[in-house]
Amino acid sequence: MFIETRGNDEKNPKKVPFSYAVLNPSASFGGLYAPESLPKLDEEFFAQMAQKNYKELALEILKLFHTDIDESVLKEALSLYDAFDDKNSPAPLVKVGADLFVNELYHGPTRAFKDMALVPFGYILSHLAKIRGEKYLILAATSGDTGPATLHTFENRENIKVVCLYPDGGTSDVQRLQMVTAEGKNLKVIGIHGNFDDAQNALKTLLASNSFKESLKKQNINLSAANSVNFGRIIFQIIYHISSYIELLKKGEIAAGEKIYIIVPSGNFGNALGAYYAKKMGLPVEKILIASNINNILTDLLTSGVYDISQRTLLQSTSPAMDILISSNVERVLFDKFGSERCKELMSELSANRSYKLEKEELEALREDFDAVYSDDDFALDAIAKFAKEGYVLDPHTATCIKAYEEIKPKNIPCVICSTAEWTKFAPTMWNALQGDRKKYADKEALKNFSEKLSLKIPSSISSLFEKEVLHSAVVDKSQIEKNITDFLKG
Ligand SMILES: *Cc1c(COP(=O)(O)O)cnc(C)c1O
Repeated sequence: MFIETRGNDEKNPKKVPFSYAVLNPSASFGGLYAPESLPKLDEEFFAQMAQKNYKELALEILKLFHTDIDESVLKEALSLYDAFDDKNSPAPLVKVGADLFVNELYHGPTRAFKDMALVPFGYILSHLAKIRGEKYLILAATSGDTGPATLHTFENRENIKVVCLYPDGGTSDVQRLQMVTAEGKNLKVIGIHGNFDDAQNALKTLLASNSFKESLKKQNINLSAANSVNFGRIIFQIIYHISSYIELLKKGEIAAGEKIYIIVPSGNFGNALGAYYAKKMGLPVEKILIASNINNILTDLLTSGVYDISQRTLLQSTSPAMDILISSNVERVLFDKFGSERCKELMSELSANRSYKLEKEELEALREDFDAVYSDDDFALDAIAKFAKEGYVLDPHTATCIKAYEEIKPKNIPCVICSTAEWTKFAPTMWNALQGDRKKYADKEALKNFSEKLSLKIPSSISSLFEKEVLHSAVVDKSQIEKNITDFLKG
């Protein structure tokens, strides 16, 4: 069962099953749903799982959660991993150094790690809508990768409409094209004048707005969200962390029970939260290292206990999917560690004062599981160039992890970096890194140059984007979002 991070307002149910949390992700007082308890994994579990492939492992883990989704539906959802590059291994683990491994999470249809969760999640949500005969509007705010993955997973699904909000100018060209050329009749893409936090705020406001929900109710439409505020995504993000550990065991890189480090390039903290839950479930993880770019709010939090955005503005970086100041899933960790009352207090402070400060003991409690470091664009581009020279390609987000690897990870503990995107989504930055320049290249040109230089293939899903018709050209002010959505639902 799932409970609420900010406590219960006596209007919502006190505990809800998985399906409820997926369909109604917004909990009392603007909080989120979190699992009441987590299943436990022991050494026997890891030994047994050594024989299984990714889908089989995923099913076993999902079953341990005792969700109210039929096993046959879970299997159908997981079977969609067959469309990834390698159907037996949707998230391959690659060795790139003596104690360094990369968990490549980007081999799905939209070439970013968001597919790992959104592909099965979209199937399950659509299935629930269909069997209940209910219509859903799914809102997604994106910093560039959630949008394409959400549009893809819900394309032409019955009873589902999707509205995707992206910050105009805040994404790469490829990411924007992935969205504005989306073809499903049930899809709407809106650019907004603002940054990702503005898009996510607009989404949260709509999710919490009774008048908006009432107007949807009149049309028999329910409201849900595809961002990682939805626990239905997080559950799939626990699995690949466990899978990477089992791969290390299988390959004889670690002994049973040996601890590892996991490094996560973080924005909204969904990926890192998945690692945290996996650790709590018993995955032998020494620490989870949070890598950020110059929007280093998470580094501040995890090193000083202060979350203060009152004096900050969002900065644009070469890792746009991490250009975030309000990192939603931190809330679930605060709840897990300190309970709903304290969590609600901290979240209220954040919205009232745009800052909060943890007690010393609270910071220590966080640092038992996490440490953090950030890097700027120069560091990331140098890391890309250095690794490319040695034959391994890191995208600009994953490159921020190298700082954590070099600066915080102690020697002799194996380390898994989560790679969150394929280089093809950020080709101009990649080409800048190789050239050692900061010129502005067009995506198409940079894709060609980079792929030729390193003899890499560009997936047709990316190269074909440039020929596709733009079907969603709207870019609006924040105040116009609700009206645009209403018009789309009418039409
Ligand atoms: C979404 C995303 C991130 C950030 O992940 P969170 O789960 O939001 O912390 C990092 N890198 C890429 C490429 C992404 O798409």
